[in-house]
Amino acid sequence: MDLTSICLNKNACNKFGNTRQKHFGSILIARESVIPVAEDGTYDYDLAVIGGGSGGLACAKEAVNLGAKVAVLDFVTPSPQGTKWGLGGTCVNVGCIPKKLMHQAAILGESIHEAVSYGWEVPSLDSIKINWAALTESVQNHIKSVNWVTRVDLRDKKIDYINALGAFKDPHTIVGTLKNGSTKELTAKNIVIAVGGRPHYPDIPGAIEYCISSDDIFSLSNPPGKTLVVGAGYIGLECAGFLNSLGYPATVLVRSVPLRGFDQQMARMVTSEMEEKGVKFHHRCVPLSVEKLENGQLKARWTNTETGEQAEDVFDTVLMATGRYALTSALNLGAAGVKTLSESGKIIAETEQTNVPHVYAVGDVLEGRPELTPVAIHAGRLLARRMFANAAQLMDYENVATTVFTPLEYGCVGLSEEVALQRHGADAVEVYHAFYKPTEFFIPQRNIKNCYLKAVALREGPQRVLGLHFVGPVAGEVIQGFAAAVKCGITMEQLMNTVGIHPTVAEEFTRLNITKRSGKDPNPASCCS
Ligand code: FAD
Ligand code: NAP
Repeated sequence: MDLTSICLNKNACNKFGNTRQKHFGSILIARESVIPVAEDGTYDYDLAVIGGGSGGLACAKEAVNLGAKVAVLDFVTPSPQGTKWGLGGTCVNVGCIPKKLMHQAAILGESIHEAVSYGWEVPSLDSIKINWAALTESVQNHIKSVNWVTRVDLRDKKIDYINALGAFKDPHTIVGTLKNGSTKELTAKNIVIAVGGRPHYPDIPGAIEYCISSDDIFSLSNPPGKTLVVGAGYIGLECAGFLNSLGYPATVLVRSVPLRGFDQQMARMVTSEMEEKGVKFHHRCVPLSVEKLENGQLKARWTNTETGEQAEDVFDTVLMATGRYALTSALNLGAAGVKTLSESGKIIAETEQTNVPHVYAVGDVLEGRPELTPVAIHAGRLLARRMFANAAQLMDYENVATTVFTPLEYGCVGLSEEVALQRHGADAVEVYHAFYKPTEFFIPQRNIKNCYLKAVALREGPQRVLGLHFVGPVAGEVIQGFAAAVKCGITMEQLMNTVGIHPTVAEEFTRLNITKRSGKDPNPASCCS
């Protein structure tokens, strides 16, 4: 009997006082009907999750809330430089969180200088410098506290956490290899692969031996000094941005274009601002080699792929930010029959279900999905509800908002101007745009050349918004709210009829009224015009 029923009255449900019933949104789930019973002797667990990062943990916690018996295996193989970390995956340990904290440290450094214009008496601006050891210590202390809380949370939720490298023995059996080399076997009815990815190193002499990656930068024992960043994606630009603002000169090697795949007009604003702050860019360049000099510094050579010209310089640190590969090779996926793409190691799973029905995958390991923490978390949760609560909702990967945390942030949701034109044709697309002056940039007078936003919309009717793009302070905070509006199908008419909050930078979206097509000047007339 399927007892899953719709219940709109939470109080009425609560009065049943039945611990085997769960309120799940507006759906009352009688667990007996939908959850595979572990105690039937067939499997040790209802669900085993390989990978305790954003997606895996979200899926495991949701599954256990729905009554499943769950195990999570998580294991961190040290980086080539020997860096390792605790439970929680990339985001917490070597991704979003330490990156955002270093970004914040960089912004604070700039704020100290600006504070003087607001009357703050700062002893001597010349003496202001970052203490790298203190910064990394604070960042790492925070990470350790998150690792600890995550562990306790798993214990409280009665999720079995196994600190072991998982691999398939057969479709339902996983072998975990512990740090001491011993192994532990477990069986599970359902298995979720959530192993994420790790930094890719270009195949050039010296890359693995002498270069670091984002796995190492947030806990680097020595100040990075003059740094070469190879790659101009999210990680390359974010790292170059905060390093430069912290006082470590940064140079970026760009193979094709910065932030390929993003709206290129906005990407140029981002890099133009970085250049004005002192970051150097070498366009159309790929690395050739990295050599260690006697004094410990690194000599890097690169070539321009268009002119064939070669160049070299000496750096204290070379950071590879050339993308990430999926960590599937250690999983012995063949034993389960799960297919991967041979080059990237990624798994194709349209609805997170792989070609083997009881094996699923979420997060960065998936082919063609945004490699973002909230995406992994949301997909993991929805998957657990489909596995253990008879839910049907699929993850919607469209219109996922994102932000590049460069010195001047870039936030966006929806289509770039290029993709909108390509999909709908130039005649069917209207682009509204404006430069703006954030109030906080009046004192001291700061460069506003790159404070720019645009809305890409359909031209006809109420003009449904296809994409929103914003370069400026707190872009992530600005775009998050508008992302909900885009998800709801907001039109330009509705956006223009939204009353702004003054003085904020987010209100600039409600003030948009100049189309690119009109050729009118998109520069601001005054702060309150
Ligand atoms: P992960 O979080 O990577 O977790 C996978 C876990 O599985 C890891 O702990 C791994 O060690 C473990 N594992 C792997 N193989 C095995 C195995 N065989 N057995 C056991 N365990 C295994 N996203 C954002 O949304 N915003 C940001 O600002 C942002 N900044 C980032 C900055 C950097 C520098 C990086 C690198 C990434 C950033 N990301 C950001 C991306 C985000 O971190 C990832 O999208 C997210 O962590 C993916 O989650 P996941 O669950 O797929 O994998
Ligand atoms: P990425 O965005 O794919 O960028 C990789 C960069 O390296 C590109 O500029 C690429 O150039 C270049 N590159 C690749 N191979 C190279 C080679 N052999 N030589 C020289 N350059 C090379 O990857 P990423 O920056 O590592 O980020 C990985 C993912 O993490 C992102 O996709 C993102 O989803 C996530 N992330 C998110 C955030 C955030 O939300 N703020 C922050 C960081 C990371 P081409 O363009 O020419 O290929």
